[in-house]
Amino acid sequence: MSQGLLNVEELEKALKEFKLAGIVRTLELRLKQAQEEGFACSEFLGLLLEDEKNSRADNRRSRLYKEAHLPFEKGLEDFDFTFQPSIKKQEILELSTCRFLEKYTNILFLGQPGTGKTHLSVALGLKALGYGKTVLFTSVWEMIQRLQASRADFSYQRKIEEYLKPDLLILDELGYRSMAEKTVEDVFEIVSRRYEKGSIIITSNRSVSEWDKVFIDRTLTSAIVDRLMHHSVIIEIKGESYRFKKKD
Ligand code: ADP
Ligand code: MG
Repeated sequence: MSQGLLNVEELEKALKEFKLAGIVRTLELRLKQAQEEGFACSEFLGLLLEDEKNSRADNRRSRLYKEAHLPFEKGLEDFDFTFQPSIKKQEILELSTCRFLEKYTNILFLGQPGTGKTHLSVALGLKALGYGKTVLFTSVWEMIQRLQASRADFSYQRKIEEYLKPDLLILDELGYRSMAEKTVEDVFEIVSRRYEKGSIIITSNRSVSEWDKVFIDRTLTSAIVDRLMHHSVIIEIKGESYRFKKKD
């Protein structure tokens, strides 16, 4: 670059102004390569653009992972299907293709604590992220707490949008606590507005027939259940807690 108009620092400064951080990162290396290997100008420019593209894709991927708020990172490869024979592995593998997202199908994982409901939801969330989909994981309790708090500062609509936007919404731990009427309306709002627009995965330690004990109001319960179940896959896990598994 001795004949160039700008030195490396000046080039980097200009690239930063144009927000081309991916090129900034590889510039020195690429300049050296260009000199040593005698790249054609078009080839050199092509490589830099490729670097920028890859860097943007990486940034998007890590942003999506962060915004998904997954509680841990465990995939299907970490799941011991032999421990839970009531789960059809083939059915989970089919779900892991994430085709259910295109059909706006919901998934319900039902079973006792420790049977792997959260693990499988997270594993499917990771798959969805791998396909470049947006995911949001939250416990039901956390979601309704946040929605309630948002009423106070008038950010309710904005908050609701946050739960409508992702391609996949994972609502964990339905049923551990009963809900107040206003909070059930919030759940209804989310479920009805995502109906046939975006998939939801719900985990619950209670069977659907008991959900009226969670949602209290019978009319709202059936309104929620109807919409959730219309296009859904229900995975009932009948087995004991993995937490009780004997260490071998
Ligand atoms: P649940 O959500 O049903 O209460 P979790 O998914 O949180 O249960 O599982 C409890 C713990 O046991 C987690 O650390 C999870 O990774 C692990 N676990 C559960 N089932 C299995 C399994 N079949 N194979 C491997 N790990 C499992
Ligand atoms: Mg759980």
